[in-house]
Amino acid sequence: MGKEGAPSSLPLVPFPHRAEAFSSWLSRLAARYDLHADHLALHAGYPLRGARELDCYLLPQADCALALMTGLSQRSIRTMRCGMPQRRLWVRDHHVWCRECVREALLEGDEPWERRSWRTGATVTCERHRRVLEEACPRCNKIGKGCLFLSDKGRVQPLCAVKGDKINLWGDALDDQLPWGLTIDRTISRCVNALSIDLCRSLVGQTLRAQWRGVSRERRLTTIIEELTLITLITIDYLPRPQPPLYWMLEQSDWKAAFHYTPAMLPTSLATGIIMLASVVLSDHQFFEDRVFWDPSECQVACEPLTPETYVMWLHPKVRSWGRQIISAPFGV
Ligand SMILES: [Zn+2]
Ligand SMILES: [Zn+2]
Repeated sequence: MGKEGAPSSLPLVPFPHRAEAFSSWLSRLAARYDLHADHLALHAGYPLRGARELDCYLLPQADCALALMTGLSQRSIRTMRCGMPQRRLWVRDHHVWCRECVREALLEGDEPWERRSWRTGATVTCERHRRVLEEACPRCNKIGKGCLFLSDKGRVQPLCAVKGDKINLWGDALDDQLPWGLTIDRTISRCVNALSIDLCRSLVGQTLRAQWRGVSRERRLTTIIEELTLITLITIDYLPRPQPPLYWMLEQSDWKAAFHYTPAMLPTSLATGIIMLASVVLSDHQFFEDRVFWDPSECQVACEPLTPETYVMWLHPKVRSWGRQIISAPFGV
């Protein structure tokens, strides 16, 4: 402890990557001292929430203490956040990753580190490698155990938290099976990226880059995607039991009324399907000229052009007019 009870500065501080999430950097910092990121966060003065919970909470006083401990500016600590408390339901509770991005980091002699974009349900594919983000550990096949980002011998290492040994990332991932016969090609990939970028911007309150149907000052892009997520889930009769994060629940006067399904709560393949549909029905249809096909009736052949119209016709009758309203809204700002 320093003179005034502030934690003293640390001799070893890994430099954050430009796109790195706060909790990822904190884990790498904690690993240098064989600490858990949660304990280091407590030491810096963050309340007992867990380091990953801090990805969308700004706590200026603790940020300031951490800045003093690490020599980083408060601004760089702040920009590592990927959401705001009111958008907490958009932040994933488990790790997801792009195998090729992690491989590249390892080849450069670096540690596995998490991108900010991976932390939120806004991102479902890697924009550089055009593949769906993975969430199951290649070694134990489990989700959400912390595999691939484990602290060991002063660094974060690609280890399996269940089996305890090294994860082999050099093989090919299992083929990404997307719902409704969807596949990722260059056209759809560009559109999904544009939507993901704007969703990420919307989550931290920045202005959007592209125009999407229905967006206005009063109606955020995230709200529209929450609605599309809900009507799609109703249509496929898949409504997982709400399991909102504890701290978010405690902050709501009526959490059931405040709860919305977001892609962050869904398996990445289903979330990818929903974001793909949304990226098409909310953008200018001329752009696609019937170049994206899908198989809404699950007849194994993606033979129908994906258009706002075929999407609405596919919806469950009880949400069809709601869907029509969303796809026929004027382009927003
Ligand atoms: Zn990648
Ligand atoms: Zn594992």
